Amino acid sequence: MKRRVKDFARFGGVPEFPDPLHVAQVNLPDWEKFEDVFRDIFTRQYYANHGPLVQELDQRFADFVGAKHAVCVTNGTVALMLLAKALDLSGEVIVPAFTFPATVQALQWAGLTPVLCDVDPDAHMLTPETIAPCITPQTSGILGVHLWGRSCNPEHLQAFAAERGLVLFFDACHATGCSHNHRRIGTFGSGEAFSFHATKIVNGGEGGCITTNDDTLADHLRTMRSFHSTEKAVHVPFRMNGKMSEAQAGLALLSLDQFPDNVLANRYRYKDYLQGLESVSGLRLIEMETDGDTNNFQYVVLEVDNEKTALPRDLLLKLLESENVYCRRHFYPGLHRVFPQLISSGGDQNYEVTEALAGGLLQLPNSQSMTSDHVERVCELIRDMCESADMIREKLNGIV
Ligand SMILES: *Cc1c(COP(=O)(O)O)cnc(C)c1O
Repeated sequence: MKRRVKDFARFGGVPEFPDPLHVAQVNLPDWEKFEDVFRDIFTRQYYANHGPLVQELDQRFADFVGAKHAVCVTNGTVALMLLAKALDLSGEVIVPAFTFPATVQALQWAGLTPVLCDVDPDAHMLTPETIAPCITPQTSGILGVHLWGRSCNPEHLQAFAAERGLVLFFDACHATGCSHNHRRIGTFGSGEAFSFHATKIVNGGEGGCITTNDDTLADHLRTMRSFHSTEKAVHVPFRMNGKMSEAQAGLALLSLDQFPDNVLANRYRYKDYLQGLESVSGLRLIEMETDGDTNNFQYVVLEVDNEKTALPRDLLLKLLESENVYCRRHFYPGLHRVFPQLISSGGDQNYEVTEALAGGLLQLPNSQSMTSDHVERVCELIRDMCESADMIREKLNGIV
């Protein structure tokens, strides 16, 4: 039966879900398999320092993406820091203003100056057109981000960077197992950085990895990730403790086994959302697989047209929260507001596209535990809320 306004939790009704639904994936393996892996770690009494499980993950992940090398490290941020440092860049590196703050912070730790660049309204990512005005004589590199698992123009950017003698590398933290033109993300640019954080599709608790086809770069990264002299060491100016533990690698390996099943489950949830929301005016799920790309469907991204929709994004977010449906606003606010000192002196200094995306996108819950029935109930809530929008606004005006 259709809800009345008083039935919504915001106005005194019972929340639709007794337990919270989250955006995060948190894909956990079967307990028995987890126990076996951890029993083996205890038996071997080898917990850190590039043990057998990390070595196995280095190899498995390189094969998985089809890259020559994979270098596993503590987390995705450290992967980005080490990659930026190992590429021996200087001065300015162009990054999108619409990304996770870690993309920018990693460059700062590597001693570089990130320069924020607005993004393309359809791709949500850097393109040669958005980058061109941000280039200065100090620019040495471009750090593209494969957002939502969609590829960041790798071929166009490659040609663009090569023409100008710039180094191109990628933040692939959203794009584990995704591909562009039958080629897996992880093989583009000079190197690509991945995250195995618990909320990503391949879960090591924490964890990260750099993939590359460049032998010299891989040697540098392997030396830099550890302060030990046990691995083949080459001359590098900086080293750190960026090692991945056996516990992380063990979990990530199990998660990699589950990857095809997890993508399938994500894809079903995406299709259910697509069907459940197609009739709502002003709301649109962004397409995940365009131009021959394949996606891991880790994120379900709703574009809320604040002009056309019955309820603006932020009100929808709040109303859903009361029902225990926790959506996210990735990435709010845009990074030009977080790091005003990194605004580009060229380009659109109002960051119009980033502003619009930061104000209009909503990521819907897509966790491992969610069934088709959960998704349908979330969609029904959104439909009912939009239909009762006038009455909801009226009631809220009296309160706030
Ligand atoms: C998760 C993420 C990171 C950081 O990865 P951690 O493993 O959490 O350090 C960086 N960039 C993007 C785009 C991410 O989604």
